[in-house]
Amino acid sequence: MLRQPILLLARSEGLKKLVSTMPVSSGIVTSYVPGETTASAVEATATLEADGLKVTLDFLGEDTLDTEQADHTVQAYLDLLQQLAAQGLTRGAEVSVKLSAIGQAIPETGDKIALENARTICRAARNAGTTVTLDMEDHTTTDRTLAALRELRKDFPETGAVLQAYLHRTEADCRALAYEGSRVRLCKGAYKEPESVAFQDRLDVDKSYVRCLKVLLAGDGYPMIATHDPRMVEIASSLASRYGRAQGTYEYQMLYGIRPEEQKRLAAGGERMRVYVPYGQEWYGYLMRRLAERPQNLSFFVKSLISKK
Ligand SMILES: Cc1cc2nc3c(=O)[nH]c(=O)nc-3n(C[C@H](O)[C@H](O)[C@H](O)COP(=O)(O)OP(=O)(O)OC[C@H]3O[C@@H](n4cnc5c(N)ncnc54)[C@H](O)[C@@H]3O)c2cc1C
Repeated sequence: MLRQPILLLARSEGLKKLVSTMPVSSGIVTSYVPGETTASAVEATATLEADGLKVTLDFLGEDTLDTEQADHTVQAYLDLLQQLAAQGLTRGAEVSVKLSAIGQAIPETGDKIALENARTICRAARNAGTTVTLDMEDHTTTDRTLAALRELRKDFPETGAVLQAYLHRTEADCRALAYEGSRVRLCKGAYKEPESVAFQDRLDVDKSYVRCLKVLLAGDGYPMIATHDPRMVEIASSLASRYGRAQGTYEYQMLYGIRPEEQKRLAAGGERMRVYVPYGQEWYGYLMRRLAERPQNLSFFVKSLISKK
């Protein structure tokens, strides 16, 4: 119930300024983001891999409105991939990319710029022995992101995409993408979306998630089940058995710092478990989306703000 007010409040420039002055070492920030540098991301990857977990890394950077900033983000991914490869970590680690961070929102030429930048990252990922998954953002970008995916998959068929169960359209998108070699991450969806395009009731979102799970697990692609919801994990596990899916023909995914014991439990049980690790200086929007999902953490957040440590 608090989710939408928190997302609205997060847009306040005053709050952004106040929160952004918190050091990244502040407890509330490091519980969701391991650090601001490539080195901190690589270190977190090594630690997670040592625990038997796979990783996908996201260089935080949204609202890119000029090519310089887009180039900076591309370069960050290239550096990251190079350092992961140098440390032998790319077998278990891939990267997640938001098209808005690499230029999609630049007026007129944005789609073309983002596609070229995504190609550069896909090429570097392939050379490093790993893959890219395109994150999904608000509903106004869904068609454009899926169009970019189709283009990228011509040269890099290993490229994955995210679908959001809260959108009415997603069950049909799952059907379209449930083919061999297609990697699809199914999440519930994190943006504030209107009733015209998205289910508003949590129960309706959950029901849609289960319908989508059925399509993906019964299909021929590689489903990536991204949720912290114990019920969804349980349902996914029984559907995987029902559709004769062996462990490793699908995977679970959770965010860094959320239900870490459950992440280890699933991995210890033989499941492929991937942790989404966001890093970089632009952690504000990401942090606010996580807080909006879990208002129980608000008191911890307010205490961190007051003490600013
Ligand atoms: C790997 C990954 C990638 C993602 N990529 C995208 C993307 O590209 N686009 C996008 O819109 N969204 C993305 N998301 C976010 C996603 O859409 C949801 O907003 C987020 O995962 C919360 O939904 P949930 O399925 O965990 O369930 P919720 O409905 O938020 O929670 C259900 C239950 O899960 C448990 N739970 C949830 N959070 C916590 C917590 N912090 N601590 C303990 N228990 C908890 C609780 O039991 C809770 O009742 C991604 C999520 C993951 C895991």
